[in-house]
Amino acid sequence: AKFDGRGMQRFYEAGMDQPLQARQALKMELRRALAQGELELAYQPLLDLRAARVAGFEALLRWRHPKRGLIPPAEFIPVAEETGLIVPIGEWVLHEACREAAGWPDGVGVAVNLSPLQFRKPGLVDAVGAALAASGLDASRLELEITESVLLHHSEGNLSQLHELRGLGVRIAMDDFGTGYSSLGYLRSFPFDKIKIDRSFTSDLPDGIQSLAIIQAVTALGRNLGIVTLAEGVETRQQLAILEAQGCDMAQGYLFGRPVSAQHVGRVLLLDHRL
Ligand code: C2E
Ligand code: CA
Ligand code: CA
Ligand code: CA
Repeated sequence: AKFDGRGMQRFYEAGMDQPLQARQALKMELRRALAQGELELAYQPLLDLRAARVAGFEALLRWRHPKRGLIPPAEFIPVAEETGLIVPIGEWVLHEACREAAGWPDGVGVAVNLSPLQFRKPGLVDAVGAALAASGLDASRLELEITESVLLHHSEGNLSQLHELRGLGVRIAMDDFGTGYSSLGYLRSFPFDKIKIDRSFTSDLPDGIQSLAIIQAVTALGRNLGIVTLAEGVETRQQLAILEAQGCDMAQGYLFGRPVSAQHVGRVLLLDHRL
């Protein structure tokens, strides 16, 4: 099916509300994008605040469309999830991220986002193992980011998959912490290695009293449970100062660096991140 750029634009903005036909068309385009190498990863630095160094990068999916330019994930991941294409795309992300990270210095890890759907299909543990084996990346340098919804649905199977993944030696981070519900129960049912405090809390600083109280509680919880805490979306030095005062372990955000293409990772590593 063909449609003009304007129809596509409208589709991207409206997401799921668009007609089935447009979704089918985007699905076919996405399939082609995967096959023809139009997908790529951008890498955003993850800062270890105490050591004042880049401890790793989060891999973030981009679609370099031949006509429409660089498309952010929010505009195609919903359709990729709806159509199941996120499974082969997610597998590609795992392989690409591990392959590229294998060329970085030993102390620098990579974090990969997993869709809840990847947990519902068999073969996730094998796919992660295969990506590690093919790249030669040490498992300790790979972190998998999952959202609470992974534990919400199909929880028993998902829980045992999480334990199997942990068994490979990779770390598991809870993404967007605080945006779902009954988060604390999930921390009891699975021993996460890291909590990523959602950007909505950070962006409320310095004025948001409620957000500050939640950040305070989560960092204290992390300290007591031995879980690393990372604040997402740090954009100002003032936010950073507050997070450091709370004892937050790590941070990510435009203050330290926007996502960059793979060839610029080395340059980011050379920068001095003491602020
Ligand atoms: P996320 O996992 O929460 O990733 C962080 C998002 O916040 C990224 O957006 C990043 O560019 C943005 N960000 C980082 N620092 C700042 C900041 O200081 N200010 C602001 N305003 N934004 C900041 P991006 O790359 O557009 O990704 C959006 C979402 O798409 C991700 O949210 C994640 O849920 C999803 N995603 C990205 N790559 C993948 C992937 O490979 N697989 C899956 N399943 N989902 C992915
Ligand atoms: Ca993430
Ligand atoms: Ca996040
Ligand atoms: Ca988010």
